[in-house]
Amino acid sequence: MSRPALLTINAGSSSLKFALFPAEGDQPLASGLADRIGPEGTLTVKAADGTPLTGAAHPEISSHAAALRSALTILLAAFPDLEITAVGHRVVHGGPDHAAPLLLDEARIAELARLEPFAPLHQPHNLAGVRAAMEAFPRAAQVACFDTAFHRSHPFVNDTFALPRSYYEKGIRRYGFHGLSYEYIAGEIARIAPRLAEGKLVVAHLGNGASVCAIQNGKSVASTMGFSALDGLPMGTRSGQIDPGVILYLMDQEGLSAAAISDLLYKKSGLLGMSGLSNDMRVLEAATDPRAAEAIDYFVFRVQREIGAMAAALGGIDALVFCGGIGENARGIRARICSRMAWMGIELDHARNEANTLIISSELSRAQVMVIRTNEELVIARAVRALVNHSERSAA
Ligand code: ADP
Repeated sequence: MSRPALLTINAGSSSLKFALFPAEGDQPLASGLADRIGPEGTLTVKAADGTPLTGAAHPEISSHAAALRSALTILLAAFPDLEITAVGHRVVHGGPDHAAPLLLDEARIAELARLEPFAPLHQPHNLAGVRAAMEAFPRAAQVACFDTAFHRSHPFVNDTFALPRSYYEKGIRRYGFHGLSYEYIAGEIARIAPRLAEGKLVVAHLGNGASVCAIQNGKSVASTMGFSALDGLPMGTRSGQIDPGVILYLMDQEGLSAAAISDLLYKKSGLLGMSGLSNDMRVLEAATDPRAAEAIDYFVFRVQREIGAMAAALGGIDALVFCGGIGENARGIRARICSRMAWMGIELDHARNEANTLIISSELSRAQVMVIRTNEELVIARAVRALVNHSERSAA
C-alpha cells in the first residue's frame, strides 16, 4: 500500500525549491533545491534531520522537468511507500480576482499565463514549474498558491494608483506580494497570541526580497509592494520605491530601453547597487567600505519609514513582527530599525534581541516586537490539503 504525500514547489528562472510533506503534519519529510538548472545544474536533497539524500552520481538537471524527475527518483528511493498525490506551487501572481489557492487545469493555467506581462520575471517560471510537475506526476492534483492572494482584502485606497480610472480597470493596481509569508505569520500570531491577532500588526519580511505589511484582524490592509515586487523597501538587488521621474529621465536622456531599465531596477540596484559590493547583508555588515555602511543606513531608514507608514495605515500598532533572512537573524539591523520607535511605543530588550527569542521587546514596550521564522512551504502544504480534501468531499 502506498501512502499519499504532497510536494511543494517554488520554481524560479533557474532554480526549483521543493519540500515533501506527509498527508498530515507540519514537518516535511525531505526538502531540496535544484540550482542553476541547465548543463551545470546541481541538485541537493535533504531528509528532515539534514542528512543528505543522494541518487545517481550525475542526476539530470537540464530542465525543470528533468530536475523534478531526478528529485523524485531520490525521494522515492528514500520513501518507497509514498505516492505524490498533490503538488502545491508558489505562483507569484493571481491577478485581481484570486484571493485563495486554486486547483489547476489547462484552462486555469492559460488564465494564469495571461498574467505573465504583470510579472515577467517570475510568472513564466512558476508556470514552467507547474507544467514540469504535471509531466512528472500526471495523476497528481496541481494547486497554485498566490503571493498576491493575501492582499486582496486591501481597501480601494491601498489598491489603486492615482492614474486615470481606465488603468485600474486594466489591472494596473497595487497587488502586494510575500502573501504566503504574511499568511503564515498571521496564523502563527493567532496560534500563540489570539488576542493580539485581532489587533494591529505590522510585519516586516526582510530577506533578499523585502516588504512590510499592515494586518488587522488577520487581514492585509496595506503593503509596501505594489504593482510589481519592485516597490517599497530597497532589497538585495531591487531598488524599492523610486520617483517615476527617474525612469522617464533614464529613457529620455540616457536612452535606456525598457529591458535595460528592468535589469537596472531588478538586478543591479538595492544593497548591491548602493554598496557596489554585494546583495548579501552579512557581507555588508562585515565590510569596511563606507559604501556598504551607507547601503545599510539607507535600508534601515527605509524600513523604519515604511513601518511608520504601515502603522499610520492601521491607525496604531499592537505588534511588530520581523521575519525573512535579515529579520530572523540580523540582530544589529533589528536593533537599529527599532532604535527611533519610542514614539510608536516600541522599546527593544537588547538581551532578548541578541538571544533571538520570540519576543524581543521590553516589559515596558507598549507594542510587542517579535521574531518569527516564516514558513511559506507549510502555508502551501496546508492549502493543498484543504483544497484537495474539499474537492474529494465534494466529489463523494
Ligand atoms: P530570500 O528572499 O531569497 O528567501 P532570505 O529570506 O533567505 O532570502 O534572506 C537572505 C538575506 O538574509 C541575505 O541578505 C542574508 O545576508 C541575510 N541573512 C541571513 N542570515 C543573516 C545573519 N545572521 N545576519 C545578517 N543577515 C543575514
